[in-house]
Amino acid sequence: MRMELTLNSAAQSEQLSGIREFTYLVRATPGAIGFTIGEPDLNTPEAVKQAAKAALDANDTHYPPGNGYPATLEAISAFEEKEHGLRYSANEVILTDGATEALFVSFATVLNPGDEVIIPTPAFGLYESIVRLCRGVPVQLPTEKNRFQIDPAALERAITPKTKAIILTSPNNPTGCIYTKQTLDQIHAVLADRPIFVICDDVYRALVYSGEYHSFSEYQDMRDRIIVVQSFSKPYAMTGWRLGYLLADAPLRERLQVFHQYCVTSAPAFLQAGCVQALQEDVGPVRALFKRRRDYMYGRLTAMGWPCQEPEGAFYIFVDISKWSTDSRAFAKKMLAEAGVGVIPGVFFGTEGYVRLSYCYSDAELKEGLDRMERFIKTL
Ligand code: PLP
Repeated sequence: MRMELTLNSAAQSEQLSGIREFTYLVRATPGAIGFTIGEPDLNTPEAVKQAAKAALDANDTHYPPGNGYPATLEAISAFEEKEHGLRYSANEVILTDGATEALFVSFATVLNPGDEVIIPTPAFGLYESIVRLCRGVPVQLPTEKNRFQIDPAALERAITPKTKAIILTSPNNPTGCIYTKQTLDQIHAVLADRPIFVICDDVYRALVYSGEYHSFSEYQDMRDRIIVVQSFSKPYAMTGWRLGYLLADAPLRERLQVFHQYCVTSAPAFLQAGCVQALQEDVGPVRALFKRRRDYMYGRLTAMGWPCQEPEGAFYIFVDISKWSTDSRAFAKKMLAEAGVGVIPGVFFGTEGYVRLSYCYSDAELKEGLDRMERFIKTL
C-alpha cells in the first residue's frame, strides 16, 4: 500500500539559499573570479585557535551549560559594555551556534502563526525564510529610494495590528550602509509605544569604516523588546566555528533559551575558550584591510560608471544595474558567462535592479575582476 507522506508545509515549500546556489555556480565556472562570498579571506587568529586546542587537550569535551560557560558569558557581557556601552549581564546572554541560530531562536520565540515581521529591504535573504519557517509573514519595507535608510512614514504605513517584530541590520548586508542617528531616532519615535520587538542584527558592527555608528540597541528604554544578535564569524574570520550570541533583557532571555535548549542544547564546549580569546583580539588591522579594499572597489566602480552608494561598513557593495537590466539574475548570469565575473543577484536580497559584490578577495583578484567588469560594460 502506498502512503501519502506529508511534510511540514513550510519546510516543503521553502527554497534553499539562492546565494549559496549562485556561489557554487560561479565556483564551477572555469576561470571565473567570484565577488560572491560573504566571509573574510583570512584565517582565524592563531591565539584563538590555540585557546580552543588547549581546551580540547584539557578534555573540555563534556556538555557545557546550555547558555554557555559562566566565563564565556561574563566575557561577552564585559566586552559589550567596554566596546559598545551596552549593559547586559551574564544572565542576559546566550551563546549560540552562529548568528543564524540566534536569529532562528529570536523569531521562533516571538512569533505566533500569522504574525508579521517588517524586513527593510534589501536584506539578508535568510530572514524571510526563517520568518516563514516560524509561521510568520515577512513584510518588505523597501529602502532603495531613500539611500537605504528607513523612511519613518513608510514604516508607519507598513505597521498593522499583526506586526510583531522588525529586523534592523546595520551595517547592512548587502548594501554596507549603516543607519544614521536620525533614522534610528525616527524609528524609535514610531516604535516606542508599540508592542513590536526589534531584532538588531549587528554582526558587522566591528567593521565600520566611515561615519558615526549607532545601533538601535542604544534605546534601552525599549530593552524589554530588543534582541541583539551578534556573531564571531565576520570580525575574527571564524565563519566555520559557527558561534554567535544574543543579548536580551532577563525575562526575554529566559524564554529565548527554550528554543535554544531544545534545538542545539548548547554551543560546543571547547570552542568557547576560543570565543573568550577572540573578544580580546584587535580587529583594527582587519578593519583597515577591508577599508582599503572598499576604497579601491568603490573608487573603480564609480570611475567606470557603475552607480553605487559608498558602503560604510561590512564588505559588500550593492551596485545599481537598472540602466542595463531589471533582471538581476539574468544580468549576473550574463556577466559570469561573458566576462567571467560572479556577483550575487539583488533579487536574492528582495531588491531587483542591483547586484551585490563582496570585496573579501585579494588585491590581485579585485583588480582582475574589476578590469573584466570594465571591459564588460563597454559591450552593453
Ligand atoms: N546576519 C547577517 C547580516 C549576515 O550577513 C550573516 C552572514 O552572512 C549572518 C547574520 C549569519 O552569521 P553567522 O555566520 O554567525 O551565522
